[in-house]
Amino acid sequence: MRYISTRGQAPALGFEDVLLTGLASDGGLYVPESLPHFSLEEIRSWRGLSYAELAFNVMYPFVEEAISEADFRQMLEETYGVFAHKAVAPLVQLDTNEWVMELFRGPTLAFKDFALQLLGRLLDYVLEKRKQHVVIMGATSGDTGSAAIEGCRRCEHVDIFILHPYQRVSEVQRRQMTTVPGDNIHNIAVKGNFDDCQRMVKESFGDQSFLGGKTQLAAVNSINWARIMAQIVYYFQASLSLGGPDRSMAFSVPTGNFGDIFAGYLAKKMGLPISQLVIATNKNDILHRFMSGNKYEQHQLEHTLSPSMDIMVSSNFERLLFDLHGRDGAAVKELLESASKGPVSIADYRWKNARKLFDSEAVDDKGTCDTIREVFEANEYLLDPHTAIGVRAARNCRRDASVPMITLGTAHPAKFPDAVAESGVSVKPELPVHMADLFDREERYTVLDNNLSEVQGFMAKHWKNA
Ligand SMILES: *Cc1c(COP(=O)(O)O)cnc(C)c1O
Repeated sequence: MRYISTRGQAPALGFEDVLLTGLASDGGLYVPESLPHFSLEEIRSWRGLSYAELAFNVMYPFVEEAISEADFRQMLEETYGVFAHKAVAPLVQLDTNEWVMELFRGPTLAFKDFALQLLGRLLDYVLEKRKQHVVIMGATSGDTGSAAIEGCRRCEHVDIFILHPYQRVSEVQRRQMTTVPGDNIHNIAVKGNFDDCQRMVKESFGDQSFLGGKTQLAAVNSINWARIMAQIVYYFQASLSLGGPDRSMAFSVPTGNFGDIFAGYLAKKMGLPISQLVIATNKNDILHRFMSGNKYEQHQLEHTLSPSMDIMVSSNFERLLFDLHGRDGAAVKELLESASKGPVSIADYRWKNARKLFDSEAVDDKGTCDTIREVFEANEYLLDPHTAIGVRAARNCRRDASVPMITLGTAHPAKFPDAVAESGVSVKPELPVHMADLFDREERYTVLDNNLSEVQGFMAKHWKNA
């Protein structure tokens, strides 16, 4: 399998290089040159498989040049064995033909564990083979940092440095990052905001000379292809549990960077019958405005009760635009260059093509709280604010009541107790048993000034072979 850039000018790469590369050299994102396609008969034969076995069938075509069958099977057993539910991605029924798929049973209680638990193992495998070492550098405002740290904690060939804004992440989120033991894990609290952290990461990728040429930086943000790949699997899993592939499914996906829902789009292209995908956003609704009116325009960032979806531009949307433009990289490049200057639209027939599958809805904080409360009152089931947005959008956008509607449950409510309290629900979401001692665990992190050379100096001194 070869991977090509959405802007058409960077060289095509194999899986190993795509894994270690962030952005393509032409500024685009890597996508598979062609997708595997599974027949209904083949998908049907996967009924009753464990999550890890299913994951093998769905993902092996993407990685086969890089990893042997036996090694990949073992890696998947380990990856999904750490989840705190035997079904890995269990379904919970809310109403007739309406479901939530709980993707928050992993070590850090958000769906990002599905991809990052695998990514850490894939990186270590490939680096061992190549006798190479990398330094992962990332900025986080919450969920990604902890999932990346948990995913890489046992990697021998990886050091990981996560920057978070000092005193500006919640205590649960900070503790999930800073209480993980390991010599290769480094938390840096920067006396600045999230944008300052992100700028430092960007500048460090641009000029890596501070590492002295002895190692290289690697990225674990959501543009990494391997993360998207891992997220395709649970669409198959949900469908097979509810009578697929002999009936089609609809999914509603709480969306920020468009990674999770793009994986659903790929599942459909790979042969899974999916009749509708709902893009559920908060007030940061660039994708909703595009889907409802064919206008793609950046607005100011708003802070909401669903912080993991607070983004101005969804980077993975470029991957869909590439397909909508018949995989013409030059057209995508031109479109996105104009989009950075002002509002853009795409040809009407291309937009209508997208609308055959995608619907969208933007839900504000009040709608989020109302939904948390309504679902608690009807089901005694607590939603986190991101999942609540998904449920709300699912209900408002549903096309056909006979098609099962599955909302992706992206986080555990205990990660966002303030939103739950604000909704007026009187019960407090409890941390799961395996994390009940989070507040007693020892923390380790270093506070640094908002200064690039100070951060880079710290990294140069503290990675393993420095
Ligand atoms: C990251 C995240 C999202 C958004 O997912 P994307 O793939 O960026 O669209 C939604 N909910 C939660 C809880 C998240 O952590």
